[in-house]
Amino acid sequence: MSAVSSSSPVVDPKGAYRDELIAAGLLISTGVDGIYGRSARFEQVVDALQDSITRMTTPDKPELMRFPPLLSRKDFLDSGYLKGFPHLAGTVHCFCGNEADHRRLLECVEEGKDWSDMQEAAEVVVTPAACYPIYPIVARRGPLPAEGLLVDVSSYCFRHEPSIDPCRMQMFRMRENVRIGTAEQVLAFREDWLKRGFAWVEKLELPVAIDLANDPFFGRAGKLMAVGQIDQQLKFEMLVPVTSEENPTACVSCNYHITHFSEIWPLRDQNGEMAHTSCVAFGIERITLALFRHHGFDIDSWPAGVRAELWP
Ligand code: AMP
Ligand code: ZN
Repeated sequence: MSAVSSSSPVVDPKGAYRDELIAAGLLISTGVDGIYGRSARFEQVVDALQDSITRMTTPDKPELMRFPPLLSRKDFLDSGYLKGFPHLAGTVHCFCGNEADHRRLLECVEEGKDWSDMQEAAEVVVTPAACYPIYPIVARRGPLPAEGLLVDVSSYCFRHEPSIDPCRMQMFRMRENVRIGTAEQVLAFREDWLKRGFAWVEKLELPVAIDLANDPFFGRAGKLMAVGQIDQQLKFEMLVPVTSEENPTACVSCNYHITHFSEIWPLRDQNGEMAHTSCVAFGIERITLALFRHHGFDIDSWPAGVRAELWP
């Protein structure tokens, strides 16, 4: 099994598929690479995918949590995200000055000068992955029940990776199921999702392959982290060719964090042991783009089996 990296090079160097999507009125250009408006036809597929995932996961009785796409700055710093991914993080800064500062701010803007030193870091950052808000919240509840916990979470997420590849957005929706419990419970969840996730993508009649992967950790130290992640087989991706046959796009990820989050927050199982965590993450825009790529821009002429899965 060969390893792929989430930091793979731009696979649509001329942005041809993006141009097609914009010309067809599926995505709406904002002038910023990786930030798009979505049309009614695009959202029709997004809603159907969300519903299909809900139908698939409802029997597991997950606890549903929804958050706005912001995370407490303290929780974000505690999570260690800046150690691994300083280049992807999006922070929020706000003006907190007085009227004189305000005049200075406007002067800077007027003169095209840097005005960012008049901005202070807010108490929030932009959510980098849908599951991040839940770990400290679950930890605050106290020890887990014997059966552990399963959470259904979904959010727009931000990653500063501007690209003309439409599959690499700066803001995109991630739907996740997160399992928190004993090592046995969490590993069983992951094994199950490697099969279920794959079977679901196959039902959408998309050509899918599963592969071991690593996250795009920053810098030289990051290379070692990536090697460790591969060695321990902590991340699997379901890959579908969208903008390139040679570099297929990760549409669904299965991550196993071992006790990473319970070393930061006191997530404990019933016996007081550190809880293990794992998540399955569906990249909603990427799956939508894969469907348009493989089945065409006219939803009405998609294969009957795909339509039956999405609009039963
Ligand atoms: P990750 O946390 O990197 O495993 O991401 C979870 C899922 O989100 C991936 O499997 C992708 O489907 C999706 N995803 C990650 N990065 C992006 C991006 N820049 N644009 C769109 N979707 C993304
Ligand atoms: Zn996650």
